[in-house]
Amino acid sequence: MTDIKLPEVGENIEAGTIVNVYVNVGDSITKGMDLLELETDKASLPVPSPTDGVIKEILVNTGDEVKIGAVIMRVEAGASAETSEAPKPAPKKAEAKAAEAKPAAKTETKSAPSSAIEHAPAAAIPTKEEAGKDTQLVVIGGGPGGYAAAFLAADLGMDVTIVDLEKNPGGVCLYRGCIPSKALLHAAKVISEAREAEEFGVTFGQPKIDLDKLRGWKNDVVTRLTGGTGQLAKQRKITMIQGRAKFVDSNTLEIEKVGGGKQTLTYVKAILATGSRPIELPFAPKSDRVMDSTSALDIATIPKNLLLIGGGYIGLELGQVYAELGTKVSVVELLPQIMTGSDKDLSNILIKRLKTIMDKIMVSTKVVKMDETKDGIKITFEDKDGKQFSETYDKVLVAIGRRPNSDNIGLENTKISVNDRGFVDVNAQLQTHDPSIYAIGDIVGNPMLAHKASHEGRVAVEHMAGHKVAFEPNAIPAVVFTDPEMAWAGLTETEAKAQGRKHVVAKFPWGASGRAITLDRVDGMTKLIVDPDTERILGVSIVGPNAGEMIAEGVLAIEMGANVTDLKMSIHAHPTLTETMMEAAESFFGQATHIYRPKK
Ligand SMILES: Cc1cc2nc3c(=O)[nH]c(=O)nc-3n(C[C@H](O)[C@H](O)[C@H](O)COP(=O)(O)OP(=O)(O)OC[C@H]3O[C@@H](n4cnc5c(N)ncnc54)[C@H](O)[C@@H]3O)c2cc1C
Repeated sequence: MTDIKLPEVGENIEAGTIVNVYVNVGDSITKGMDLLELETDKASLPVPSPTDGVIKEILVNTGDEVKIGAVIMRVEAGASAETSEAPKPAPKKAEAKAAEAKPAAKTETKSAPSSAIEHAPAAAIPTKEEAGKDTQLVVIGGGPGGYAAAFLAADLGMDVTIVDLEKNPGGVCLYRGCIPSKALLHAAKVISEAREAEEFGVTFGQPKIDLDKLRGWKNDVVTRLTGGTGQLAKQRKITMIQGRAKFVDSNTLEIEKVGGGKQTLTYVKAILATGSRPIELPFAPKSDRVMDSTSALDIATIPKNLLLIGGGYIGLELGQVYAELGTKVSVVELLPQIMTGSDKDLSNILIKRLKTIMDKIMVSTKVVKMDETKDGIKITFEDKDGKQFSETYDKVLVAIGRRPNSDNIGLENTKISVNDRGFVDVNAQLQTHDPSIYAIGDIVGNPMLAHKASHEGRVAVEHMAGHKVAFEPNAIPAVVFTDPEMAWAGLTETEAKAQGRKHVVAKFPWGASGRAITLDRVDGMTKLIVDPDTERILGVSIVGPNAGEMIAEGVLAIEMGANVTDLKMSIHAHPTLTETMMEAAESFFGQATHIYRPKK
């Protein structure tokens, strides 16, 4: 048996944190193959095996702090084997391009419809006059799905009506989602940057928060944007009806108007885009102390302490806002990891920083009871061993997911079907089982993101207009606007492993990025998931400040079928964080300028 010890990884580095273990007991390993990912104060870096053999024992776990020289694994030396992740010799660029027949993995977005949806091929739809209807197209719900669809339909010459509860288009995203949360996160980032400037000798005083002014500014941002969408609807001569719509039959709506009264509206085609709403905890008391994402955005107060129930992106973004405003924030997550589904090496970098601004991050822990007391909300937790404990919080934010708004809209009066979670079944053209009705956005399933909704809206309208289209993206970017940001597109490493898909991971730690060092933010990593045969980029994942802006290059690379050579040979401006994309591609060949990691 041979001991594998944690090797020296740099001058004055005495220990590091294990962020990812790539191998399991029983695995055959070869000399030079990455065993684990180590994070030190300076950078994240892979630890290669010094020998061939078979792993007999693994003595470390993700999250462990391990000293240089400590034994990390025991190996029966001698055995050798190929692994599915071992990179093959790189084909030349032309060969790689020729071998690209296989499309990149599709992002799973919807559950399969209960039965196939087949309608006659699309042909341009009749006008309202020809069909004897009130409008040619009605869009129910004016969110980023609905208004993108409505605007394109009007641009293509259709007669369009939008029905929404608000006066102007915008939906959850503009009124109580993407936009207000990002406005508040900007304020939070200014606070943290001012605090951390002390590191390089620039000191500000403690921030003074004028909550009314901050809320007012956030509301102004929302008003400005929704005023703009209202104006754009007017310019396109779209009829806006403010009210709640319900299907009477496949071509008729009954609308309960916001100002009072009812209206019947007949239509040739409809697009259902009623979105989603927060899932409630059934045992949560009705109290001002218990918030959902909508009420949390109102920042009525800066609570002394706050429990965030749910470690997904919506909760973490809002939790970060409250933490920077001065609240002691704790997070509880039922699953073993916050940001479930994301790659652990990326989320560990985020968690490390969140731990510096938050009080506690509890995983594998369930909230089993919530009681309102005179001091706050008393929470009873249960850990993975069944042990119960309780704590009282000034306020609680429930962010455990969202459910589709497919109930109480008269779907039973149409041919639309929904799956067991209430999401509307659609095909690749966004048609439902009802030939007159399309559905788009959050109501048709994951990922519940604004840009996915908008893209679906445009596909639905183009199909309606008789164009040959389908919603078949290779990459839907996901961005978590925490600090650091996390972003990914295409296949993640976790998905590649789960699908048993042959892949190679090429990474570039931001500790070696000149731009990251000038920003004093080396807590980042850029990672490419590459098909070893074609060298095509299947996925890109990034953690670090501005990851959300950087992911656009990854989306383009995946959608254009780029390979690592394309990325490596595209000149990236210096010094920028985008260089980490180019250097990650270079590292695939063992030739990244700013890290020494020869190809094995
Ligand atoms: C706090 C928060 C932050 C978020 N941040 C991001 C982000 O950064 N990036 C991102 O991509 N996504 C983000 N999202 C998700 C994003 O908001 C949604 O994915 C997106 O809004 C979905 O668009 P949609 O068009 O499907 O529906 P929605 O935006 O939900 O709009 C649906 C509209 O339909 C209306 N409606 C509902 N029922 C009826 C009815 N019966 N009659 C008439 N009208 C009706 C609603 O009032 C609403 O205006 C966030 C969400 C939240 C809650």
